[in-house]
Amino acid sequence: EGFNAAVAGAKALNAFIVDTPDHALAAADAADAARAAGDAAKPLAGVPIGMKDLFCTKGVQTTAASHILEGFVPPYESTVSGKLWEAGAGMLGKLNLDQFAMGSSNETSYFGNVISPWRRNDGGNAAMAPGGSSGGSASAIAARLCPAATGTDTGGSIRQPAAFVGISGIKPTYGRCSRWGVVAFASSLDQAGPMARDVRDCAIMLEAMSGFDAKDSTSLDLEVPHWEAGLSSDLKGKRVGIPKEYRVEGMPAEIEALWQQGIDWLRDAGAEIVEVSLPHTRYALPAYYIIAPAEASSNLARYDGVRYGQRELPEGANLQDMYAATRSAGFGPEVKRRIMIGTYVLSAGYYHAYYTQAQKVRTLIARDFAEAWDHCDLLLTPTAPSAAFALGEKMADPLAMYLNDVFTVPSSLAGLPAMSVPGGLDAGGLPLGLQVIGRPLDEQSVLNAGL
Ligand code: GLN
Repeated sequence: EGFNAAVAGAKALNAFIVDTPDHALAAADAADAARAAGDAAKPLAGVPIGMKDLFCTKGVQTTAASHILEGFVPPYESTVSGKLWEAGAGMLGKLNLDQFAMGSSNETSYFGNVISPWRRNDGGNAAMAPGGSSGGSASAIAARLCPAATGTDTGGSIRQPAAFVGISGIKPTYGRCSRWGVVAFASSLDQAGPMARDVRDCAIMLEAMSGFDAKDSTSLDLEVPHWEAGLSSDLKGKRVGIPKEYRVEGMPAEIEALWQQGIDWLRDAGAEIVEVSLPHTRYALPAYYIIAPAEASSNLARYDGVRYGQRELPEGANLQDMYAATRSAGFGPEVKRRIMIGTYVLSAGYYHAYYTQAQKVRTLIARDFAEAWDHCDLLLTPTAPSAAFALGEKMADPLAMYLNDVFTVPSSLAGLPAMSVPGGLDAGGLPLGLQVIGRPLDEQSVLNAGL
């Protein structure tokens, strides 16, 4: 009875779209057999992990939480998931997310909202959003349904949900993890990464997920460092920059206090704290919400009712009608909004006014960071401008939703490694996250600062 109640409680979070217990059990059996045979243990031997449903998994439905991909069973395995199976992990199931990873609350999923296991303790009783887009990953780990999960981060989708539920998550340098077999959102920004309860587990997961892949043209051909072995909480000699432009107007006092707490922690660990300037920060969010939809509108052109998933074929329809009907029925409202913004900013008449401008801004933002590295080795900021919000609170106002990404998108535009770690609780007892941003390829320092 207790077991059934626990299962019902877990199911009520709606974190998983598909359960694959046999996959996880097979990995556990393989780990047992290897141990019995005296073989060296694999780094993730028998560990049951959750797989964000944006990673193609051979023989297991992969939907990107969209209707248009419902029933799509990939005949291939994504590079990252394949690496995790090679490392001994097993798949507990495919995790819910915002549709095509577009969103910050997991409310755009075709398969329903994910619920955070956290509640406000200040009398509010509304169900809380787990953040997004990796909301299923966040909720499942926070509820202790699995010790770790994969996430993807285009503009904050690993870090913001990690912050909202009080766990850790790292987006590595762009190109560390192969994008091959990951359903594309905005290809110049998309990066896979791990989410887990602590920094050490993230380091172990990231090591297994990273590495060169000839099937992704932006994959970095570099050795994967031994991040776990390199973990150290001693920050002596490290300079941590506090970017003054992140002190945005109207920032809640508790976010200020969280930031100060983080500064104190890093100073106590031996770091030197310096103020730095990233002057173009305020243009990052508008640039991101032009570039990401532009790339999305192009990437999502492939869902035509012919090659993947669902098809709508009305009576007497010609090919054009079939495309229109399929895409009308298959994509949710947020995805359609992005496709329309994307095609608009890429259209002949507006391309230079929007897309080219946004690309220039992206270069300026990357330069801001490059100049900051003359003065510091790491940057410390809050992960998000607020704690988790209630389901429904921001859905009617896309701009309010987009504003929640204000601290995570700049490092995405610059392709930098960035991590969120738990920093404490707000007045309502909800978790708050601190973000550490590092130099390109310096995941080690980011992990160490988070430790
Ligand atoms: N919330 C951002 C968006 O909606 C980021 C999403 C992501 O990183 N996948 O685009």
